[in-house]
Amino acid sequence: MRTRHYLLATQKETPADAEIVSHRLMLRAGLIRKLSAGLYTWLPTGLRVLRKVEQVVREEMDRAGAQEVVMPVVQPAELWQESGRWVQYGPELLRIKDRHERDFCLGPTHEEVVTELVRNEVNSYRQLPINLYQIQTKVRDEIRPRFGVMRSREFIMKDAYSFHASQASLEETYRAMHVAYCAVFERLGLAFRPVVADSGSIGGSTSQEFHVLADSGEDAIAFSDGSDYAANIEMAEALPPTAARPAPTAALEEVATPGVDSIASLCSHLAVDATRTVKTLVVAGEEPGSLVALVLRGDHSLNTVKAEKLPGVASPLRLVEEAEVRDTFGAGFGSLGPVGVALPVIADRSAAVLADFSCGANRDGYHLVGVNWERDLPLPRIEDLREVVEGDPSPDGKGVLQLKRGIEVGHIFQLGTKYSEAMDATVLDEHGRSVTLHMGCYGIGVSRIVAAAIEQNHDDRGITWPAAMAPFEVAIVPLNMHKSEAVTSAAEALYEHCRAAGIDVLLDDRDERPGVKFADMELIGIPHRIVIGDKSLAEGEFEYKGRKDDEAQRIDRDHALDFLR
Ligand code: ATP
Ligand code: MG
Ligand code: MG
Ligand code: MG
Repeated sequence: MRTRHYLLATQKETPADAEIVSHRLMLRAGLIRKLSAGLYTWLPTGLRVLRKVEQVVREEMDRAGAQEVVMPVVQPAELWQESGRWVQYGPELLRIKDRHERDFCLGPTHEEVVTELVRNEVNSYRQLPINLYQIQTKVRDEIRPRFGVMRSREFIMKDAYSFHASQASLEETYRAMHVAYCAVFERLGLAFRPVVADSGSIGGSTSQEFHVLADSGEDAIAFSDGSDYAANIEMAEALPPTAARPAPTAALEEVATPGVDSIASLCSHLAVDATRTVKTLVVAGEEPGSLVALVLRGDHSLNTVKAEKLPGVASPLRLVEEAEVRDTFGAGFGSLGPVGVALPVIADRSAAVLADFSCGANRDGYHLVGVNWERDLPLPRIEDLREVVEGDPSPDGKGVLQLKRGIEVGHIFQLGTKYSEAMDATVLDEHGRSVTLHMGCYGIGVSRIVAAAIEQNHDDRGITWPAAMAPFEVAIVPLNMHKSEAVTSAAEALYEHCRAAGIDVLLDDRDERPGVKFADMELIGIPHRIVIGDKSLAEGEFEYKGRKDDEAQRIDRDHALDFLR
């Protein structure tokens, strides 16, 4: 590629509304441009990186025996009604109607669609196990898109779905996916950690997340320094009870709380710590004049349903007993516990916003962690979390817990029969009996990985890509191009040699000052730079500098290609 006719789109200025370094650098290095909240165009340089990530993912999925397909982004409501998620999924599901007033959604994930495919195409245990994957655009109407492509409303995901005649077979593929995910993140050169996870609105029992460790991560990962134990502390059930844990919230009675206007003041009002989570606190309005708050386990999607059904929310919150919660909302929430607080600040907010005001609570203390607030509340401070978690013994009896921030880049689930039962997906076993399919699903945030990699790989001059993700491997920067015949022909020759050798090379043939070119190549993060100037050329040499090197070095022009390889 030659820069002269290439949409380089680099920027000097630091974009004002970009909060984290990867977002700033993706804009400045000309990787992405914002169209609207959470919607981004991938520019040529960004797309090159994205394609490299996709290719690594594709190769490892193929190696693990998965088969690539592409399913529609637009999905009919009927399938989601069959699984129950048309109602459960809540406002993150972007719904549309066609010209005949039929309901559709834009797929945030594809369990329903793939189950529909497999129940039609697979009839016998002999065709199993099968693992289908796609690398495709997903749409989620995130309440708070932010950090550029890190949390966007349209993003690229690799999602795979496996089907099995038995739980044992599911477990085997789940392990193979775990291995494939580790291979992907290793090849991409990322510092990552697999952790025990909450299965959220996807459902299912066993699940693990893969986190890229970075201070800007939205999740907090607790891990043991003495064993392999690691968990996203959204799932504090895996954590041990500690002496430090306060007793269950004392006065579970009607309370009015002037001054409660943030997660922090809410927590301090409830006299709980903002750390451990196994349950979700849902704040929902029952009728004008009253709010109830319930603590649910696990499935975030349920909050949304219930809150949606409850218009006319007003303060103050009222505390409710478990039995009352069951009466009001029906059973099916798993283990409920009473908790509540007056929270005037949310009283005038829409049900959708309330639905997303979820907090975590621990098994016995209803400890809270605030997430997803429409206003710009800070995330729980890692320092606050640290106080309680760090130094606690491990759940598995080995070592003590440490805490780090993580960015979720992958998630694998054993779904069991959740979807196949609801959607009647069965096969005949070896005795001719009908058995419900066991299912697993496995996601990788392909576009999020690009941002996560930059969080881990940058310096004050720009991006320092891991080799496997760099948009170009080599930058050729000729000094005085078009004025010096010798420089021009040497640059052109090296460019052609690189291309012939299959090296991704960018020839900076712009009429710009050397300083401008150097700054751009460093900002974009090209790992190898070769400068060609009259002086060194006269001595039969080029000047080489690695992106992370302090000093440039001379290399023999005739062996430049060997040097690069
Ligand atoms: P998060 O907890 O960050 O909202 P999730 O648990 O909802 O993610 P999954 O349903 O597990 O996401 O989807 C698989 C992967 O897709 C995630 O691990 C993540 O890397 C990526 N992903 C999810 N939501 C987004 C988004 N809004 N923007 C970019 N990538 C996303
Ligand atoms: Mg999500
Ligand atoms: Mg998650
Ligand atoms: Mg997830």
